Amino acid sequence: MNNEFKYEKLTPMLKHYVDVKKNFNDSVLLYRVGDFYEAFFDDAITISKVLQLALTGKECGHDKRAPMCGVPHHVIDTYVNKLVKKGHKVALCDQVEDPKKAKGLVKRAITRVISPGTIVDLDSLNKKENNYLLSLYENKFGIGACFSDISTGKLVCFEIRNKIDITGNKLIDEVEKISPSEILINSNFKNKKFREYLDLNPSILINKIDDNNNFEDFIQNVREHLGDINYSKINNLRIALVACSNLLSYIYKFHNENLAHLNEIELLEIDSYMELDANTRRNLELHNNIDKKGKENSIIKLIDKADTVMGSRLLNEWLERPLIEKEKIEKRLDMVEYLFSNRDVSEKITYFLDDIYDLERIVGKISYQRANARDMISLKSSLRNIPEFKIYLSNLNNKAYKDLANIIPDIGNIYEILEKAVVNNPPISITDGGIIKDNFNDKLDKLKLESESAEKDLLEYEVSEREKTGIKKLKINYNKNSGYSIEVTKSFINMVPKSYIRKQTLKNQERYTTERLEELSNLILGSSDMINELEYEIFNELRDFILENTKKLQYLSKLIAIIDALNSLSKLARENNYTKPIMRNDNIIKIINGRHPVIEKNLKENEFIANDTDIGEEDNLIQIITGPNMAGKSTYMRQMAIIIILAQIGSFVPCDKAEISICDKVFTRIGASDNISKGESTFMLEMNEVSNILKNATESSFIILDEVGRGTSSDDGLSIAMSLVEYLSKKKRIKTVFATHFHELTILENELRNVVNLKIDILEENNSLVFLRKISRGKSDRSYGIEVAKMSGLPEEVIENAKIFMAKIDDNKSISNISRNSKENIKETLSNIKNRKINDIKSFCKNININDLTPLEAINILNKLI
Ligand code: ADP
Repeated sequence: MNNEFKYEKLTPMLKHYVDVKKNFNDSVLLYRVGDFYEAFFDDAITISKVLQLALTGKECGHDKRAPMCGVPHHVIDTYVNKLVKKGHKVALCDQVEDPKKAKGLVKRAITRVISPGTIVDLDSLNKKENNYLLSLYENKFGIGACFSDISTGKLVCFEIRNKIDITGNKLIDEVEKISPSEILINSNFKNKKFREYLDLNPSILINKIDDNNNFEDFIQNVREHLGDINYSKINNLRIALVACSNLLSYIYKFHNENLAHLNEIELLEIDSYMELDANTRRNLELHNNIDKKGKENSIIKLIDKADTVMGSRLLNEWLERPLIEKEKIEKRLDMVEYLFSNRDVSEKITYFLDDIYDLERIVGKISYQRANARDMISLKSSLRNIPEFKIYLSNLNNKAYKDLANIIPDIGNIYEILEKAVVNNPPISITDGGIIKDNFNDKLDKLKLESESAEKDLLEYEVSEREKTGIKKLKINYNKNSGYSIEVTKSFINMVPKSYIRKQTLKNQERYTTERLEELSNLILGSSDMINELEYEIFNELRDFILENTKKLQYLSKLIAIIDALNSLSKLARENNYTKPIMRNDNIIKIINGRHPVIEKNLKENEFIANDTDIGEEDNLIQIITGPNMAGKSTYMRQMAIIIILAQIGSFVPCDKAEISICDKVFTRIGASDNISKGESTFMLEMNEVSNILKNATESSFIILDEVGRGTSSDDGLSIAMSLVEYLSKKKRIKTVFATHFHELTILENELRNVVNLKIDILEENNSLVFLRKISRGKSDRSYGIEVAKMSGLPEEVIENAKIFMAKIDDNKSISNISRNSKENIKETLSNIKNRKINDIKSFCKNININDLTPLEAINILNKLI
């Protein structure tokens, strides 16, 4: 509220608005007034702008009206979602007493605060992804993190204590995987890199949490909300415990009751998974494509063939964190293989999964008290076939699936109760009745009977009154405002008996009541109110009953997600002709006829040229690829990395045969991902990325470097590239594939035992290039840059001039750099230049008319030609 409005002069309601707002300063406040939620002062201005609503005014005790805007209460969720999507936190202040019974100002209180990280409205959430609230806590020992998807109840903690990780990119990499929509950080959070990261990502809502040094408070808080068992799980992760406590306090600031579905902590050991930094995930387009930031052409879009959204969310997680333990990978692979080889089983599983809704989020909604009877029906449908599904799995001829079947919880009674209790097409509202089936509750049945009999009596009364009065068109109707009335059109008014009491005069008719009608009306309306109240009570009992089964349902959701994700991978393999990789642990990777899984889908059948990979042995650890632009170098390198990652999530891979040594980390340095907003040049960024790779890569890692060193002068770039390859080869001994236009790098093959050259062949045909896309041993002699530029449609003149410059450069270089090129090549280049020059002279001479030349002109021309 700006200074124009003095608090003392405000009307009582606006005083209250301002009082409430004081505690929710970081939110926009919407305040229930009758059928509307209204906002005033600055919030009204903000909301009217964001939602494009008219900004009006309200009398407020000053000469000037207070800025105001409002939205109808029944569509509040839509407006709240829009505000939250735009990064606002919204506090809803509701009437908490019946306005009819209120003395003075209706009592109001904050009933909900909705922020990007705590939103539970299913319509506004991406079904296939989690929506996380992340809490970070930093102190001198390290960084503790806790993240939660409140819509599903997932709650995960981890810590970063290693010095290199704290100062490096580890936190950013993890946060990028979590992709939170809201972050809580303690006020002493110093991490410089992460602060810079936040500056670059303004769409994430940040909340500062005051530091409290009383550790006992944190312990108490976690114990209170999550119980002793969970507390003991993170008892040793003290910094994560603080992050967790802060997260819980934030959530419970808005919830008085414990949320039943937020009941278990998962501990994430970030080092137990393949390390994939944010660059690598972006470069390989694992979750989003590079250009449009969408899902098109991403790996997740390719592999997600899940039948339930829970399966889709799990596949997302698997792809974020590929496994590094051979046994676990092989277990997943074997389970995928079983479904891959038994198509009928896979199809039957799809049949069972098809009926299953988002169980996780339905349970969340119930816990949050936001569920309606339709959610109960979705829950019921999801559970209908579970017992049969369990039997089906346990009868399969496969131990892993039998084991899974054994742990599927028995949920029979939940289904039965829902089936008995809730009608098949219930209304959205849970307070207006029409939800509970007959024969479920005796009291309800009795009330319904009474109501029905009163309604019957009413019909009979209508008929008898019609007969008694002789008014043929006499009708008894119900109206929301005036209740039940006898309606008589104006032309029959004189026939109305004296005992009728006039209630209302309308244009063409009069409304009356009678003693008997009042009696019947009270019976009907009274029982209808009682029915609605009782139905609401029964609905709440059902909800409580489901909440008692929360853990069971959550466990079931997890198992369904696993089966679905495995089945999805089996479908992926079947549809695209993938093979089961053989996992090894000796650093060697051999792929026969490998393909890039996304690019092959974008080409016509058989258009993708498969290539082999053989890397990791003493004589092929570092591979230098040369070849023109567009030849397929990046595709080849990316396909290797993707095949490794797919194998380690337990997926079959796009090739004829693969033997994959488990990689602890995959790194990529590809392309010029500029970061101008951060004030760093492309070259600086490139070097930062490379230095990060060198610091973190181990002998079990796999590195892709695409044209490193190109962001500076070619001499500098070449020198850096040379020494980089030498370092990787001698000091680090890490599997590396390096694509480059510095052809000089290829001489390292002769000098370093573990370096090999690879090239991608092309054919020059009728003055243009044909890309063969086939990788083979050896080096490419030139980059064919001008030819590729010509194919890209550069003007003819530019191309022709470039050729002349190139010839000149070659002319000079070929002699000075004789040691670097093979003699044959140089001879060939020189003869090319000679031929070109002769042709130029010939065409020049053709245009001269010798007979017209004076001797002096002839001498001048000769001079020019020499
Ligand atoms: P480079 O890195 O050598 O410049 P890219 O790997 O970016 O080349 O490949 C350029 C394009 O060539 C790709 O977008 C793809 O359409 C096509 N391509 C690459 N590799 C293959 C392949 N093995 N088979 C068929 N087409 C390919």
